[in-house]
Amino acid sequence: MSTTSAATRYDVERVRRDFPILDRQVNGKPLVYLDNAASTQKPTAVIEAVRDYYATHNANIHRGVHRLSQEATAAFEAARATMARFVGAEQSEEIIFTRGTTESINLVAFSYGRANVKAGDEIVVTEMEHHSNIIPWQLLCEQVGAVLKPAPIDDTGDLILDELESLLTERTKIVAVGHVSNALGTINPIARIAEMAHAVGAVLVVDGAQATPHATVDVRALGADFYACSGHKMYGPTGIGVLYGRRELLDAMPPYQGGGEMIRTVSFEGSTWAEVPHKFEAGTPNIAGAIGLAAAADYLESLGREAIAAHELDLMAYGTAHLEAIPGVHMIGTAREKTAVLSFVFESAHPHDIGTILDNEGVAVRTGHHCAQPVMKHFGVPATARASLGVYNTHEEIDALVAAMGKVRELFA
Ligand code: PLP
Repeated sequence: MSTTSAATRYDVERVRRDFPILDRQVNGKPLVYLDNAASTQKPTAVIEAVRDYYATHNANIHRGVHRLSQEATAAFEAARATMARFVGAEQSEEIIFTRGTTESINLVAFSYGRANVKAGDEIVVTEMEHHSNIIPWQLLCEQVGAVLKPAPIDDTGDLILDELESLLTERTKIVAVGHVSNALGTINPIARIAEMAHAVGAVLVVDGAQATPHATVDVRALGADFYACSGHKMYGPTGIGVLYGRRELLDAMPPYQGGGEMIRTVSFEGSTWAEVPHKFEAGTPNIAGAIGLAAAADYLESLGREAIAAHELDLMAYGTAHLEAIPGVHMIGTAREKTAVLSFVFESAHPHDIGTILDNEGVAVRTGHHCAQPVMKHFGVPATARASLGVYNTHEEIDALVAAMGKVRELFA
């Protein structure tokens, strides 16, 4: 499908009507929401799915024989099946519900990692990772005496693949890479990285937080052993996310947290664990969140994931051209393969001032280090302003961003 034809068929005005919050005014101006990489807005389909669960089916799952508990259990497990389909997993059991990407990566680090990474082993990440895909590995390395190695990026924000490959040895046990960078928008060549990781016997953990909202994800085609994502970044609720793990890896892993739901038998002499995925879901899960997340996945599929990607690429090209044309604006992150993120600095204004002035105009962007301090260090900036795109953004909203940048220039140039 060509980018232009898919973008042309995409009816953004119809999509906007699905998001009640877009009717809001901010500072007397129509809301222009360009902070989607931090968190996306929710369509009526998601809000209604959560409301319907609480209004008509609410009960605890898996333990009850009564009707509501059975309904809640069925809805929760149906949500798991939806998410398995959404990421291309072979079986529903490979989907573990977590609080989000951060918890998913911590689960892998502390369950798979402690069981498989020993003193002297190595874990390879990249310089462009979100802190969520750095700190859990750093903590693991400290605990077991392993070494964390970052693969460098170039000045466009592209991963230097040769350098990554040269870091991989038989000591490498885990390679952990973001699918899409939240600070730069770079799309990493995951299938190629999977081949490299597997060639040295390492497993590949993919941080998919910024990929699931924008592109089709197929964990098997990508060769990901683990894949993490967050509901709130893909138009679903907060406090829910997914960890995909290959079944044989999950089966062999020890529990991550202990408590109800994750056991088969309990005695003071010793306990045994439930099968996956329940082994990793101690306690009452976020039932409404999982149901809302599945509604979000269905919603994205109803829009067409290729059509979404084409729409956002089109907007990104438009936004890049118009922002670059503003004297004093410098784009951070211009990788060949990138999506949905317009990160920039303006020569004479701090990003936080930019953010405040844009907010006065009703334009919501994020300013700061975006939980990616090594990226900021690479580019020699303390922070950037980041406009990040979603399914409901329009060319007119990019125009509003550019016009609001005119106010920044008036004050600071
Ligand atoms: N990874 C990336 C690339 C992100 O952009 C984020 C959030 O910004 C995270 C991980 C953490 O996601 P969460 O806070 O939903 O756990």
